[in-house]
Amino acid sequence: MNPYETLDLARVINAAGKMTYLGSSAVSSEVAKGMAEAAQSYVDMASLKQKVGEYAAQVTGAEAAFVTVSAAAGIAVSVAACLTGTDMHKVESLPDVKGTKKEVILQKGHSVHFGANITQMIRMTGAVVKEIGTVNGVRNYHLEGAITAETAAMLYVVSHHAVSNEMLSLPEVIEIAKQYHVPVIVDAAAEEDLRKYYAMGADLVAYSGHKAIGGPTSGIIIGKKRLIEACVLQDKGIGRAMKIGKENIMGLYFALREYSTTDAGQTQARYSRIIEKLQAECAGLSGIQTRIAWDATRPIPRLQLIVQEDNNWTAKELIKRMETHNPSVRTRNHLADQGIIQFDPRELKEQETGEIAQVLRFLLNDTNRKEGEHR
Ligand SMILES: *Cc1c(COP(=O)(O)O)cnc(C)c1O
Repeated sequence: MNPYETLDLARVINAAGKMTYLGSSAVSSEVAKGMAEAAQSYVDMASLKQKVGEYAAQVTGAEAAFVTVSAAAGIAVSVAACLTGTDMHKVESLPDVKGTKKEVILQKGHSVHFGANITQMIRMTGAVVKEIGTVNGVRNYHLEGAITAETAAMLYVVSHHAVSNEMLSLPEVIEIAKQYHVPVIVDAAAEEDLRKYYAMGADLVAYSGHKAIGGPTSGIIIGKKRLIEACVLQDKGIGRAMKIGKENIMGLYFALREYSTTDAGQTQARYSRIIEKLQAECAGLSGIQTRIAWDATRPIPRLQLIVQEDNNWTAKELIKRMETHNPSVRTRNHLADQGIIQFDPRELKEQETGEIAQVLRFLLNDTNRKEGEHR
């Protein structure tokens, strides 16, 4: 039984990937069990957060770590920590930043919208965003020229949302920032490598708990001990409005344990199995060709449905029909303009490939018949 049906909401078959608008990740049975038990018990919250922070630090190789409710909260809390340090008066004064260094530097090509505007996650603390360069070019002198006595931090975004060409690379940013003693915060919300950016010399790195890690809605900030201490203090300030519950902290902990012990090769083999099965089951759909394509940077295979040009209907129409069907089949649609619909294996259950093929067969028969009647 799908619990959302209690509210008359269609069951979703998620072939889109880890998407916030579909609930990000569905946790494993072990994680779900741990969360249910955590929700039914009491614990000293500060000690729980400390323990899970210590565990996260251990698996990421960082000096310390702090649990948040999301990566977006992780960005806001990290910025707040760079503004206030461990000064409780400043912590309680935010977003009032009188007498506080308050500028956060961001490369123009990193000024992204990930579902919300990243600059708002910075500004909500009281900080002021100082964008440098242009969307297609940032040079060393832009960064060096922007650093003043008012600079509190530099934010660097690792994401497919960000422009990557002609921006300063993370090593370049870290080298300059270190000379001027400016802390570097990295937004690595969706990244799979939990060690890389801290190891490169970043001071704070924010991750989502519900993206690559596959946990419930949650996040972690890993980083230098002194700055993480300042993050912890934000719970008595603006962090209170971003509070994470005990069951989600435990869910994050169990998911992190699974994630750091799961063999990447096994995960990839499962992805390939699902996509090949889906391709076989979609064989012979009328008006459609299929092929397997790999993600540009991550080892994720996807099935592409290529809508042939001589159809009387478009990829966008088929997407709409899959979406409004029950079960609702959700796909990756940014290539729809080119007639390509993509199926992502990460959140698909093996038995759902057959259901997808069945929905497609039903919709395509329907579509082709209707088109025939018009003629
Ligand atoms: C998803 C995402 C976020 C927000 O992460 P949440 O954990 O959902 O708040 C921030 N930055 C980037 C680049 C993202 O992809």
